Amino acid sequence: MNEQLNDQTNEFQRRSAELNDLLCILNVLAWDARTQMPGGGGEARAQQVATLSAVARERLLDPAFGAAADEVVGDGEASETGVRAAQQALTAIDAMRRVPAALTRDLALLRSEAQDAWALAKAGNDFASFAPTLERMVALTRQLAGVLGHENHPYDALLNTYEPGLTTATLLPLFTRLREHHLPLLRAIQAQPEPRSDFLTRHYPAQEQKAFSLAAARRFGYDLERGRLDQSAHPFEISFTRQDVRITTRFQEDFLPGALFGTLHETGHALYEQGVAPELSRTVLTSDLLGLYAVGGASYGAHESQSRLWENRVGRSAAYWNRHYPELVRTFPEQLADVSVGEFLRAVNWVRPSLIRVEADELTYDLHIMLRVDLEMQLISGELSVQDLPEAWNARVRSDLGLDVPDDANGVLQDIHWSAGMFGSFPTYTIGNVMASQFYEAAGAALPELEAQLERGDYAPLRGWLQHHIYRHGRTYTPHELLVRTTGEGLNPQPYLDYLTRKYSGLYGLEAT
Ligand code: ZN
Repeated sequence: MNEQLNDQTNEFQRRSAELNDLLCILNVLAWDARTQMPGGGGEARAQQVATLSAVARERLLDPAFGAAADEVVGDGEASETGVRAAQQALTAIDAMRRVPAALTRDLALLRSEAQDAWALAKAGNDFASFAPTLERMVALTRQLAGVLGHENHPYDALLNTYEPGLTTATLLPLFTRLREHHLPLLRAIQAQPEPRSDFLTRHYPAQEQKAFSLAAARRFGYDLERGRLDQSAHPFEISFTRQDVRITTRFQEDFLPGALFGTLHETGHALYEQGVAPELSRTVLTSDLLGLYAVGGASYGAHESQSRLWENRVGRSAAYWNRHYPELVRTFPEQLADVSVGEFLRAVNWVRPSLIRVEADELTYDLHIMLRVDLEMQLISGELSVQDLPEAWNARVRSDLGLDVPDDANGVLQDIHWSAGMFGSFPTYTIGNVMASQFYEAAGAALPELEAQLERGDYAPLRGWLQHHIYRHGRTYTPHELLVRTTGEGLNPQPYLDYLTRKYSGLYGLEAT
């Protein structure tokens, strides 16, 4: 590498580091707003975030940054990760340049306005008051999809911002297979007696819940020297480089599973971020430049694969509770005195259709996602009007879940995503489930002792495998590349379907299908 190119590489790295710093500072502001900030701080904080986001956007679009990235890509001696970082920067710059400044501004303004309107509408159970705002959001989002560009469905452009490379051409057949599997399995489960679950809603003091949850997070390998657990209304994980990766939980004293599994879920996200290779800190490969968000995971779906792997594959398994249930009973001796480990396991894996996505079990969760994705695709294509949305929602809940939606607060108004303009993000939850099983199966093939290790409560080998094959790479690879490198193939729902069939057949004593 000659000296001039070396200078350009340094220039690209220096500018990338500054950009990542700005995005990490934005994350600090977001963490503070959601865990510590008094309510009165909201307006000023929104202005601070808008200002800093604008600075980050300017830095990204600075021609000198693009020129430095171009030089790195053209440099025959640059490292593979260096070239990938520069290519990702150029892709983000290209996409962001295509979005007119006025559209960016209008979307940002509408997002904060729409979230307020949505919160009021949800509290008042009044979809009509939210409909005009949602109509404007759909219109702007359709414009966004148009300028970002797509070959087939405008939804592809939006999907691509959360799951690089994924299109509806791959997604829809995959969803069809899931539906064909899930619906008969759900009907078979519903024909069985319901498990006992009365003990889940006894009184569980928050302090003991926190102690147990934190111990569980540490057992998985969450490093508290580089992390901490706080409380917030909606649980989340957020990082400011791999050296400071925080999670939150919501402790409900009359419902044990919420914080228990919520913490395991966020711990999975946190293990990913803490596991990113140190040399990727302050680079493009821990920055979502298009979303202007500091994150080390390859995509939303890849990230979700890790939260779900640790929460569901490990945390809801028989091996896990055979090992750790005695400790839970020691923590809550009176509440669980009359509950066997088998009863506990069946209760926390109880499958039953419900109205609310975030409370859904592993099996019906995907049905919630698929109905949202179908409806938002129709909104974006123009086939469905906002006015007809509640009726379409309720019809799908009836046909898929067999439930009547009593009101919009428990129906179409339950999620924040559309008011936040996050069209295209819902699929990543189900993609995460599918990927989790593919990764878990690959880990099992590489670690012949895996099941015995998990039965002993030894999580280090599994975490080590995931660290080596997934976490350390940050955003170096696309989710598809990551899958092919670790499992030998792209998205494949079969391991996930096999897992669900095996799990629920065992728990519910179903005939092998
Ligand atoms: Zn998650």
